[in-house]
Amino acid sequence: MTFAVSPPAVHVRAPGKINLYLGVGGRHDDGYHALATVFQAVSLYEDVTARHADDFSVTVSGVDDPATVPLDDRNLAMRAAKLLATAAEYEGGVALEIRKSVPVAGGMGGGSADAAAALVACDALWGTGFSTARLHELAARLGADVPFALHGGTAVGTGRGDQLNPALARGRFDWVLVPSDAGLSTPVVYGRLDALREEHGALADDPPLSLDVPIPVLQALRSGDSELLSESIYNDLQEAALHERPDLETTILRGIHAGALQGIVSGSGPTIALLCGSPESAQHVQNELRDRGFDPLHVHGPVPGARIIG
Ligand code: ATP
Repeated sequence: MTFAVSPPAVHVRAPGKINLYLGVGGRHDDGYHALATVFQAVSLYEDVTARHADDFSVTVSGVDDPATVPLDDRNLAMRAAKLLATAAEYEGGVALEIRKSVPVAGGMGGGSADAAAALVACDALWGTGFSTARLHELAARLGADVPFALHGGTAVGTGRGDQLNPALARGRFDWVLVPSDAGLSTPVVYGRLDALREEHGALADDPPLSLDVPIPVLQALRSGDSELLSESIYNDLQEAALHERPDLETTILRGIHAGALQGIVSGSGPTIALLCGSPESAQHVQNELRDRGFDPLHVHGPVPGARIIG
């Protein structure tokens, strides 16, 4: 294939996400659970810069503990770059520089955002010229959350969460995020959910292998009414995440006490997402939680997916 003339460096910004609704069904033979989820991209971003190189390398900044992010082929951004190179038959390499803001292993899809950003950055750097549909297909091979990080906005995810359809969402929603110092492993939380379901006898009822997002969630998003949305935000993984981290329940209650409309565990946790009624209310909740020793962040959604900057 031919490659267009390319710039010396490309900077891409990709958002973290909240699952404002997450229904988890039964487990397929490939180990993945059936999901019906609503993703919302929020204004907490990963910045990935790609530069020409003979080999593939990655550096990471913005994390408290560098040991939490692998710098080899386990790094999702590195895997994204190599996958694109193979698909495009590109013979060079790339030096990727990742500046992280999304908490690592926080249930906000930071690694997936890095992968989406790396796909867009390398596509532009190498002049690959792949279509959005082709990038989406590669993204789905990297992980269930990667297509959404490309897409951004608000979207319904079904299947493994990777079959995306845009959701109509009016206006802006204000969230206060409360990250944790220690991450939670996604497989551990899903494993706990299976164990809890077995204990409760739910597996005997066969959780469905295909799920839909309830209509009231979609209606609330369309209305742009945070109060209405607060009545239907929900996460099937919450009980399992709280089992691993019982302290998170206190965080949710503190947030609601400070004025948030509702709070949920984001994805597999441990980040808590508190939905607020306005930017002012979110500011107030953030201040109150900070006074109580938390490290909260005020973000808003929806925001666009992976984009070239400058
Ligand atoms: P998941 O997408 O599995 O729900 P998450 O959103 O909770 O994960 P991530 O920050 O994406 O959390 O990282 C999960 C794990 O993936 C990390 O513990 C880390 O070992 C590994 N990982 C691979 N690549 C990256 C990356 N670029 N940034 C952060 N973690 C990465």
